Order: sequence, then structure tokens, then C-alpha cells
Amino acid sequence: MPDHVSQPRLLLRRLHSVMASDGAAQQRLDRVVRVIAQNMVAEVCSVYLSRAGGILELFATEGLNAEAVHRTRLRFGEGLVGLVAERGLPLNLSEATSHPRFAYRPETGEDIYHSFLGVPILYHGKVSGILVVQNVTPRTYMPEEVEALQTIAMVLAELVSSGDLVAAGELSEDATSVGQPIALDGIALVAGIGAGVAVLKKPQVHITRTVAESVDEELARLDEAITRMRQQLEDMLEHPDLAHGGEHREVLETYRLFAYDRGWQEKIREAVNSGLTAEAAVERVQQENRARMAKIRDPYLRERILDFEDLAARLIRIIQGDTDTGKQPLTQDSVLVARSIGPAELMDYDPQFLKAVVLEEGSSTAHVTIIARAMGIPVMGQISGLLNHIEQGDEVVVDTAQNHVYVRPSDEIIEGYSEAVKVQEQLLAEYAAERDLPAITKDGQQIDLLMNAGLLADLPSLDTSGAEGIGLFRTEFQFMVSPALPRVDEQTRVYSAVLDAAGDKPVVFRTLDIGGDKPVPFLPRESEENPAMGMRAIRVALERPALLRYQLRALLYAAAGRDLHVMFPMIAEVAELRRCKAILKKEIDRLDKFDKQQPANIKVGCMFEVPSLSWQLDSLLAEVDFLSIGTNDLMQFFFACDRSNPKLADRYDLLAPPVLSFLRMIISACHAANVPVTLCGEMGGRSIEAMALVALGLKKISVSPTSVGPVKRLLRSVDMRQLHDFLSDHIQSTEHSIRDSLIYFARDHGIKM
Ligand code: PEP
Ligand code: MG
Repeated sequence: MPDHVSQPRLLLRRLHSVMASDGAAQQRLDRVVRVIAQNMVAEVCSVYLSRAGGILELFATEGLNAEAVHRTRLRFGEGLVGLVAERGLPLNLSEATSHPRFAYRPETGEDIYHSFLGVPILYHGKVSGILVVQNVTPRTYMPEEVEALQTIAMVLAELVSSGDLVAAGELSEDATSVGQPIALDGIALVAGIGAGVAVLKKPQVHITRTVAESVDEELARLDEAITRMRQQLEDMLEHPDLAHGGEHREVLETYRLFAYDRGWQEKIREAVNSGLTAEAAVERVQQENRARMAKIRDPYLRERILDFEDLAARLIRIIQGDTDTGKQPLTQDSVLVARSIGPAELMDYDPQFLKAVVLEEGSSTAHVTIIARAMGIPVMGQISGLLNHIEQGDEVVVDTAQNHVYVRPSDEIIEGYSEAVKVQEQLLAEYAAERDLPAITKDGQQIDLLMNAGLLADLPSLDTSGAEGIGLFRTEFQFMVSPALPRVDEQTRVYSAVLDAAGDKPVVFRTLDIGGDKPVPFLPRESEENPAMGMRAIRVALERPALLRYQLRALLYAAAGRDLHVMFPMIAEVAELRRCKAILKKEIDRLDKFDKQQPANIKVGCMFEVPSLSWQLDSLLAEVDFLSIGTNDLMQFFFACDRSNPKLADRYDLLAPPVLSFLRMIISACHAANVPVTLCGEMGGRSIEAMALVALGLKKISVSPTSVGPVKRLLRSVDMRQLHDFLSDHIQSTEHSIRDSLIYFARDHGIKM
């Protein structure tokens, strides 16, 4: 085993003393590469540093031609060195020249070296250079060697940060220019409009001391900091906003568990034992986590690693003597800008001034999204290159309806949006004032407007929106954020809280719709070619009946003495529904056996999301107490068009004649069989669609809480008889869509869209 792997502490000490010695920075760097090459038993060791304009310049080398120093320059992304910079991750190759990104620079003479190991030198979280070793013989470097080189790169960052090699200003300069107004696209994670000045997430903590003087002292510093960090988190959980419980509190409690994670702490201790200071050790382990994260595709696991990122930054701050609680004071309306952010970190910003969050990463199931939703803060995510385009203090306007983030917008845009924010506030006030008005059309048809929910945090909206109940409670969220399968009592607690909050209003609980794009941590994930048509929802439940049995048990316990509405997702045939009902029956019988109280009334329904049900509709309707049309899934199967493929988002229209005919057929069959039917897909929350659906005969719609007000207002302004006749004429059309005709109709008839 090479020397550096067995003697990491000695090597670090040696490097540190070379770096601290007298002489020009360039001379010290030349000696450093020599020491590294010797220790790594490498024929080449080179350091490339970042220059302004996204250039990587060869600053020192042992082994390559000396004339290439300061002459060889690569762009970020160019060659293998550029690739390491672009990805910010190590690159370990036994045959460098055959890699498609290999770019030969004759002045270096590097074509004779087969193996290549490059790691980024990170300073303030940015790539400030690349450290490379090369060998003539083809070999793959061992994981211990990769780790050792990463540790060395951390120590080198100290020399780079001195500003003696490349001026500090140049180091912080970005490859992309900033200053111009720009609109960036992303994905709406929490809907809304928000505007304010950009506040970049707390800068990454800068580590000034990397090499330990005394390992024992560093271990003591580490232990003390871990204890303090845990105390901070306990205090955070006492926060008044979290006191009443709810899923966002559970998220933070899960996060707190990470603070007690033994494996993580052991790794940090090991890094201290290898000669790093406590803070450098935390950062070192975090770098490893990041590298691992880049390979993980499972979004759930990626989010969990983000939680560690949040914790690591907190821990480093504490080690370095930061005595505040991490709170970030805001003094004006602000938009938080970050690559990614952890759930606890978001709570460090004053919610009074936090108007929106924009993220380079982020996903709808991320913990931070759940917390932001609970706090009512709009979030846009997956904005590529965000941090290259935005600076602290820039004006930012976020509009999730347009999927736009305007950075340094023109005065017209700012004015337009201040107007939009005012209009939004005014409309919200109007909807609130109309909250208790019934959803009755002009010709006297009563429509039930219900809302969709999935978190305890959604429940206050039942009251504020004026919805008449919960038409779809998606139970899967509790399972998606919990590291282990939630126990029956934990599930019961959530369902009871939902029923308590709903009071007299009905709640339809949908059983687990996991799998597909909704991974849960406690079930192994097999990769599937077509997850939307794969092992998901009721298919998982019927394959693992215990999962469904326990959930039904929890629902029955929670609804003791009250009404229970249970709905099964993704049913594709009557036989499947019968199997679900048999499981439910067993659980109902079990209540009697154990002398437990039954619900006052049990209604069983299923989702209509798979077109095959159309050909068993009469038999299906004989088996259910109600039906709910899930157009989100139904339409992807109807048109054979993946609902999550952004390229196809506008390919087909939900107001196409065949869709309307199909839905009319389902609705009419339900009426004929006297089975109540609801529609709970996103379609129902859009004004024109809602209008068309009611004209097709639909009497119940379940929409997101924010759509209740606008849909109700629209319905109250429509004479459905007129629209019914109009629709009957147009539904036979062979046009791509009848959307425009419906919009003209609405305009001509003074309908409030
Ligand atoms: C649907 O498919 O329309 C639906 C409401 O279910 P989900 O969006 O949760 O898949
Ligand atoms: Mg669905």
C-alpha cells in the first residue's frame, strides 16, 4: 500500500510545513507537487488553478514538461481536467487517452501517461482548481488513494485562498456574466407569486485551518460541537410554529435523528484521526457524501443527503465558534436563493420577510418543499445555472404560474408584478369574502366543491377555502418522508388528526399510492422501464397485503364512531377491487373480534385512472359506493402520453373532443347507476375545464385549496343549460381541441374566468 494511505497524518504535516515555509507562493506550490508525487508514487502531479473567464491554467507540475506551466490553459468542461471542474467530482481513469473528453495538449507531453486521477480543489464551495496525479502504467486508483488526494486538495485550498497565486477577486469571479435582466425557467414546487431582494443562502463556511496540531484536542472540539448542535435542534423543535405538530414537525424530527447518526460521526472521527482539524474533517466527509450523491438517482435518498449537508454546515459553524443560533435576520422582502437547502435551514430565515425560495435543485417531495408549503412560501426549483445568474441584493420576482424567475427585472416587470401581487391579494380577499356562498350555477345546479390534501398542514385550508370536504386525501406523503414504515399507531394519529380537523365535513382517504414516481425509503426500488405503468399503488398493496391491512386498520381505528370513506387507487379491473374489499372486510371483522368500536358508516370507492375500467363499468359501479376520476393518470393512459415528460406537456389537450366524450360516458354511467362521482385530477381546478366538466353533468369536483375560490366564482356565473347545448354540438368535432370555442363562449356570456 502506498505510503500516504498508511501515513496520512505525516503527509499532511509535511505539506503544511511546505506551504507555511518562506519563499514565493509559486515556489511553495512547486515543492508541494513534488511532495505529493513522491507520496502518491505517481510520475506526475499537477495543479491547475481557475482564472477569470472560466479558464483552468496549469500552475505547477512534477512530471509534465515544465514549459507547459502557465501556458496550458483549458476551459471549464474542456479535457479531463475541465470535466473534473465541471462536475466538481473526482475522476479516476485507468486509460485516460481513450476517454471521449481527453484533449491532448502537445506542450505537456502527457500522452505517455495512461492512468489519471483528478480531484477538485474547492474554495468557498466553488472549484478553484484541480489536483491531478498520473501514472505511466494503466491502473485504477484505489478508493483510499482517491480519498487521500481529496484530503490533500482540502489542504491545498488554504494555499490557493491566500490570494498569492491567483488574486482573490479573480477566484470569486464567475464563468457567467451577471448584471443583465434575465428570466429563468424552473418548476413550480409551491405555487404563488413573490418578490424581493435576493438573499444568497448563508455562504458556505470557510475553513481556515485544515491540519490538526493535536488529534485529541480536535476530537474534544468535535464532541463539544456535536452536543451544542443537538441542543440547537432541540430548541428549534420548540419553535411556536411547530408546537402544534403536523407533518412539517415530523420532517424536522426525522432530521434531528440524523444529528444522532453514529455512522456519520464515526466517519468524521476517522477523518480527524487522519490528521485533519474537526471542521476540515466534517467538510471532508461531506465532500464524500456529495460525490456519492452525484451517483444516486433515487430522489428520496438524494434529499436525505441534503439533510446531512445542512447539518454539516451547522456543525462546522459551531466548531468555528459561531455562537448564534444560525438565525438569518431579514429586514426587507426577500427571495432566498440556493443550490439546495435543508429543511431546518429554511426555518433560520424570518418568515415575515421571506417571500419566495428559488433553488437550482429541489423537488416536490423534498423536505424543504413540504416545510415551505406549510409556511405558505412559493418555491421554484430545478433552475439550471441559477447561481451563475444571480447576486446578493438583486431584485427578483418569482411567478410559479408562468414558471419564471425574473432576475434584475425591468421597471415594467416590477410594476406589473406589484400590480399582480396586489390583484392576487385583492382576489384572495374576495374569494375569502365569498367563502360561505354556495357553488350554485345561474340555473340553480348545486355543485359540491371539495379539496385535495395530503398533509396535516393542508387542513387549515378546509376552513379558509370554504371547501365542503376533502375529496382526496393522499395518504402517501407520511410514508414518503418517514425513514421506516410508519407504525399503525403513527398512521392512526395522522388520520385521526385529519378527521378531527375536518369535523362534520367528509374526508375521502385514498390508500397508499406509492411506487412509480413516489418512492418510499423502506421498500427496495427496482428500476423499471415504465414506472407509471409499473409496480405502483394498488399493485404494491396487493403484492404486500400487510401494508394495506395495517393502513386499513389505522383508518378504521381513526374513524371509530365516525364516517369513513376509503378509496383504492389505480384499480384496473373489478377483480382487483374485490380483493381490496375482501382485505377491508377482514379488518372490519377483526374490530368486532377485539371488541373495538366500528366507524359509524363505511363507504368504499375507487379511483378511475385506468381506461380498462370502461369495459367493466356496470360491474364496477355495482361494487362501489362512489367513484373518483383521476384525470392526471387517466389522461396519460388515454393518450399514451407520459404525464411527467415536459416535452409532451402540451401535446394533447384535456379539452379535446374524445376526452370530453369519454368523461361524459363515465359520468352518465355513474348517474344511471346512482353512484356519486367526483373528479379529483388537476383538470378540475382549471376554470375552463371545470366549466366544461359541470356542463357534462359532473356534480362534484375536488381541487387544490387555492382553486376552490376561482372555480366557485366561475360556476356561479354560468348558465349550464346554455353551455350544455353548446357542448353537445362541439363534442363531435374532430378538432385538436375545443378550448378556444369554450373561451369565446365564456367571454360572450360574461362568465367569470
Ligand atoms: C390522478 O391521477 O388524477 C390523481 C388524483 O392521483 P395522483 O395525482 O396522486 O396520481
Ligand atoms: Mg393518480
